[in-house]
Amino acid sequence: MNVHEYQAKQLLRDFGIPVPNGVPVFNVDDARRAFDALPGPIWVVKAQIHAGGRGKGGGVKLARNKGEVEELTKSMLGMTLVTKQTGPEGKLVNRLYIEEGVDIRRELYLAVLVDRVTSGITLMLSSEGGMDIEEVAEHNPEAIIRIPVNPAVGLQPFQVRNAAGKLGGSPVFVRNLTDFLLKFYKAFVEMDCSMAEVNPLVVTGNDKVVALDAKLNFDGNALYRHPQIHALRDITEEAPSEVQASKFDLSYVKLDGDIGCLVNGAGLAMATMDILNYAGGHPANFLDVGGSATTERVTEAFKILVADQVKASFVNLFGGIMKCDTIANGIVTAARTLDLSIPIVVRMEGTNVELGKRILAESGLAIVSADTMADGAVKAVALAKRGN
Ligand code: ADP
Ligand code: MG
Repeated sequence: MNVHEYQAKQLLRDFGIPVPNGVPVFNVDDARRAFDALPGPIWVVKAQIHAGGRGKGGGVKLARNKGEVEELTKSMLGMTLVTKQTGPEGKLVNRLYIEEGVDIRRELYLAVLVDRVTSGITLMLSSEGGMDIEEVAEHNPEAIIRIPVNPAVGLQPFQVRNAAGKLGGSPVFVRNLTDFLLKFYKAFVEMDCSMAEVNPLVVTGNDKVVALDAKLNFDGNALYRHPQIHALRDITEEAPSEVQASKFDLSYVKLDGDIGCLVNGAGLAMATMDILNYAGGHPANFLDVGGSATTERVTEAFKILVADQVKASFVNLFGGIMKCDTIANGIVTAARTLDLSIPIVVRMEGTNVELGKRILAESGLAIVSADTMADGAVKAVALAKRGN
């Protein structure tokens, strides 16, 4: 789960991490109050959307007086902001954050992530702040410093001092960076983040280290431990089909192909996407209805597929805990309730598979039965092509 910059900054502030003062703004009255509450002489008006690259897209602007703050607020609220990360359709701006202007001497980059290589948490620091880190990694990889953290002892001050030595700076800077990173690591672990990025992490004229931007991602499986973070979820930022799926506990990720997949088990879902690609097709989604694929969940899953306007659907299920006949009844009920018109290819395997296949065959619905995964994939791809 993602949160907005102003929410991330408030969470970091609660850990004693230095962030600029700022006020969230939903209308022009709020903006006037924000102006009065902040010292100036520069105010920064920042669009709040769940995507970066706002600066270059016109979503971060400086104001020098109250009039400018009001004008920028009026022009940004309600605008569709297009950035490198939003896609061409952009995102509607309905919240702003007005912040004090910070005296920036240097812009650094900081990210904390769960690193597959070390099977632990790694901090990444770079002197190239404010830039697209993917570009730095490609053209100037030696500018990125990695600090692997031993989970048993946590981030150690000497590790930060070593890194700070490579970045160069005054002893005050090194002390402030160390303090910042130790608190940041603690915040990351205690809030169960899956990724955190501060770009840019700035060094001010008097060598303070401040988070000028903040992006936090939280591990969805740990959110039950953090109701106050869960409450920050902004569903207007999420794809409607993903919001719907999460209501029914379906693991769903929207993709850009035209074959809807309905699968039980994440491993089988991955394999299904692979085999569709191998057969020359394009999956429209990853959808795992889980081990207990009840009729209700199968129906909800089909609703999501239909809303995504797929050309065909490939149902690939393994009847283990759930028996194939139960699954088949779920499919038939869902197809009838929703009056489905898209072609459905079903491949089932497992307990009571013969009975399940018979239920599908006798249902009178235009369901195409497949004997193997490969057979199902080929049939689904052919049907999707015909629908084009
Ligand atoms: P994004 O990453 O979405 O473009 P940022 O919050 O990183 O948004 O802001 C973009 C740029 O705007 C920063 O790199 C910085 O140069 C400038 N900026 C952002 N906030 C402030 C601030 N409070 N004071 C001064 N400059 C700022
Ligand atoms: Mg940024």
